[in-house]
Amino acid sequence: MAYLCEMERHEIKRTDVNELGEFGLIDHLTEDATIKRNSTLKSIGDDAAVLINQDEVTLVSTDLLVEGIHFDLMYTPLKHLGYKAIVVNLSDICAMNAEPSQVTVSLAISNRFSVEALEELYEGIHLACRLYNVDLVGGDTTSVNKGMIISVTAIGQAKRDNVVYRSGAKVGDIICVTGDLGSAYLGLQILEREKQIYLSTPGVQPDLEELDHIVGRQLKPEARLDAIQYMAKEGLVPTSMIDISDGLASELFHICKQSNVGAYVEESKISIHPQAEEQAIAFGINPITCALNGGEDYELLFTVDPKDLEKVKYMPDVYLIGEIIPSKDGITLHTTSGNVHPLKSQGWNHFDPDTNEN
Ligand code: ADP
Ligand code: MG
Repeated sequence: MAYLCEMERHEIKRTDVNELGEFGLIDHLTEDATIKRNSTLKSIGDDAAVLINQDEVTLVSTDLLVEGIHFDLMYTPLKHLGYKAIVVNLSDICAMNAEPSQVTVSLAISNRFSVEALEELYEGIHLACRLYNVDLVGGDTTSVNKGMIISVTAIGQAKRDNVVYRSGAKVGDIICVTGDLGSAYLGLQILEREKQIYLSTPGVQPDLEELDHIVGRQLKPEARLDAIQYMAKEGLVPTSMIDISDGLASELFHICKQSNVGAYVEESKISIHPQAEEQAIAFGINPITCALNGGEDYELLFTVDPKDLEKVKYMPDVYLIGEIIPSKDGITLHTTSGNVHPLKSQGWNHFDPDTNEN
């Protein structure tokens, strides 16, 4: 079965949530929540979950997602929404150099959502939990007058000395990024464009096949747990780390501010997918602007001590994009045309494609 967004959904079967009742609904949605982690002593079903945690530290991170602000169900299939809601929280735990182990999911839903719609949402939630080997151990369910609100809390564990903060970057450290940047932002622009076309000409179905990479990066992001596990295996502990939710420039500013350092970044070292490059140009935006200021790529930005150069050099899908410099030298971008200018942190929410610098 294909997973439909509201632009495509013509639901055949529609069961009102009141038919199941609150407890019936919770039981139904969470029946696939199997326990995978030794640290989960008690999962769903009591007043609180119980986690056991021997000599490690516990990491906790929460996100709140509001319909109309953080997601648009016109073009987001509910399965993807469930998947993404989990993944973006796991990404925060990974960004601390920890393994996520449990999540809780709290939902406020209006009567617009049927049991079938919520089943799709939970299919995405359970799929992410399976793929990332985390347990869904609890949550809360309530109604709301309009729309949908999802709050996910992710819990993770790490050895105390392995936890990586934003504040640990030192002058001379190498700046590294996993994966390509800017695609999720361009995917969002495509989906917004298709929504406008649909609203003016209902029934027209978008053909997004050639845009699968960028649309996929927006609708179904992944957390870079693979990078965290690789580094653990190689005995590589970054000096600082953050996940890229608001754009590379904004995240680099966070690291520099908290570490009290500056940075230089080489434009030519930043990886941009050919589809993103092509679409940026089609929209009249410089691709590098998307990579620096587009959000939601959920890649990792981290710094490593130069003594670890050999370890990070062979790490798959990692790009060495620059170096940490003294704070007084600022945060600069060395462009492919040979210019050096201060990097601006626009942040995702303030990003306007019409104010293209170049
Ligand atoms: P309480 O009245 O103590 O808040 P609930 O009836 O809300 O308990 O929840 C019963 C159990 O189901 C608890 O273990 C809770 O964590 C879990 N739960 C409730 N809603 C959800 C949800 N949306 N997703 C996952 N687990 C949930
Ligand atoms: Mg409750």
